[in-house]
Amino acid sequence: MELQTIKDKDYKGKRVFLRVDFNIPVENGEVMDDTRIKAAIPTIEYLLKQGASLIISSHLGRPKGKVVPEMSLKIVAERLGNLIGKDVKFISDCVGQEVKKASQVIKPGEILLLENLRFHKEEEEGDDEFAKELASLADCYVNDAFGTCHRKHASVYGITKFFKDIAAGYLIEKEAASLSKLLENPEKPFLLILGGAKVADKIGMVKNLLDKIDTLITGGVMAYTFIKAKNWEIGDSKVEMDAVPLAKEIVREINKRHLEFHTPLDHIIADKIAPDAHYFATERGTVPHNWIGVDIGPQAIEEYTDCIKRAKTIFWNGPMGIYEIEAFAKGTIEIAKAIGQHEGVFSVIGGGDSVAAVNKAGVADRISHICTGGGASLEFLEKGTLPGIEVLKK
Ligand code: ADP
Ligand code: MG
Repeated sequence: MELQTIKDKDYKGKRVFLRVDFNIPVENGEVMDDTRIKAAIPTIEYLLKQGASLIISSHLGRPKGKVVPEMSLKIVAERLGNLIGKDVKFISDCVGQEVKKASQVIKPGEILLLENLRFHKEEEEGDDEFAKELASLADCYVNDAFGTCHRKHASVYGITKFFKDIAAGYLIEKEAASLSKLLENPEKPFLLILGGAKVADKIGMVKNLLDKIDTLITGGVMAYTFIKAKNWEIGDSKVEMDAVPLAKEIVREINKRHLEFHTPLDHIIADKIAPDAHYFATERGTVPHNWIGVDIGPQAIEEYTDCIKRAKTIFWNGPMGIYEIEAFAKGTIEIAKAIGQHEGVFSVIGGGDSVAAVNKAGVADRISHICTGGGASLEFLEKGTLPGIEVLKK
């Protein structure tokens, strides 16, 4: 996939509209995690160094077209300023006369951060007039908001037709390159690790990857859905009943292709989902009546570690168990460590909780690529592209 990139362009003296993903978690007016802010810095610093003046925009949360003070990007202006050691000007709207004026007075090397795009319902509606107004603030357009590229929102999609000069930032370039590598000629064996909860949401991605992968291993609610599809006992484990027929269909496709496929050989089962639960490991791949499967067991960890050691390419989405509870986190942490310890594998992790688990295991720097957008990465793997990326192609 060949994108127009910022390296191809000249930004000296240009006003650049830069769309980023600053959709960070905020609690009681505090930034809880600034990973997404940091992820945008390479592009920001590059453009400033090239002599651009930056008009940066983002969404935050789901204000649904209304001004919600708790979802203001003002605190991001402060945090970004601290991270790059520069003053970041903030303006309390993203369109209108005041914004227009502010965008005209910033100088090369300066940054103006606009208020939350989603305070206007036109952003999510993909409204063309709104896109045009945003576009009128600058000379050229750069998108680095990977996490929003699966949406045809005004600032990532419609806006591009009002600029001659558009490009992908470093983050989008890296995300697209890493995910494309999984789809186009991945080095074999290619191992897909599937866990987590949102089974139905992930089936499209799984179907598309079946033609690329050699091995599939499962954990979490995903595994129980597949075990249920085999008509095995799952006790009171959480399962997505609606997705069972889809799981059956996938098993048929797997068999047709003679792929290696595993559900856990054993489980950690508990009497309730709580830190003070009674829990122990089963001896087999089923879950007895009245018990809840909360993690993969030690035999499964061993088998999955072996699959990981044999792989040359890995994509992992979804934790192996309820990793938020210490006693049920072992399977997920051990899988993360096994990937981290495996030299010479191309590993990609996608999904908010999977990324959190990899950070918790302390192996994030040993992963080839960590996706910054969960939904966007899954849709990219399902469709091979995203609307917001398609418009940035050469
Ligand atoms: P990601 O964000 O990586 O895409 P998901 O959101 O699909 O992953 O799934 C993560 C959630 O799945 C976590 O909150 C975790 O507690 C939950 N989960 C994993 N295994 C189980 C299980 N056996 N029973 C219930 N919930 C589970
Ligand atoms: Mg999640």
